[in-house]
Amino acid sequence: GYRSRAAFKLTEIDDKLRLLKPGAKVIDLGAAPGGWTQVAIERGVKDVVGVDLLPIDPLPPAHLIQMDFTDPECGPRLIELLGGAPDLVMSDMAPNTVGHRKTDHLRIMGLIEAAMVFAIDVLKPGGTFVAKAFQGGETASLIGELKRHFTDVRNVKPKASRADSSEVYLVATGFKGR
Ligand code: SAM
Repeated sequence: GYRSRAAFKLTEIDDKLRLLKPGAKVIDLGAAPGGWTQVAIERGVKDVVGVDLLPIDPLPPAHLIQMDFTDPECGPRLIELLGGAPDLVMSDMAPNTVGHRKTDHLRIMGLIEAAMVFAIDVLKPGGTFVAKAFQGGETASLIGELKRHFTDVRNVKPKASRADSSEVYLVATGFKGR
């Protein structure tokens, strides 16, 4: 079985868009407890490197590390473990909310933007970026930025994502390169 309900969201996204290709190199940001990594391995991805603030039980052959993605040493560490540039950077990261609407929104957007900047910095040309985002606020400007760097950018709301949540997944394919 899967370790998370989130696994079903990635399954739906991948059934629709076929992002997890055998032989691809994948980075999983906010990977605990490991559901997305499980789906990636099950779909034939050989090289998966994941990171989370929380410890993750091993899922061989994936490399899973416990670290803060916003630590400047994290990105280089992920690339080193992966042994090269990723074909896919996927982020399901969500910060703990503090209950103050504006603060929470800024923290969430900061994390999504950090994931996007990282993806643009490291992806192979033609690569893919997937990120959990939230409708409204700054998400429109993120989409605008993604459109400058990727040939196709879309919003996906998986059925497994609660209808009453504002969660959406941004899927950007065809990285144009640096
Ligand atoms: N995709 C995962 C799965 O299928 O098992 C579920 C991910 S869960 C919705 C979001 C995760 O993001 C949490 O485990 C949280 O610890 C992690 N996270 C939040 N901020 C982070 C950060 N700065 N660095 C690394 N992970 C972070």
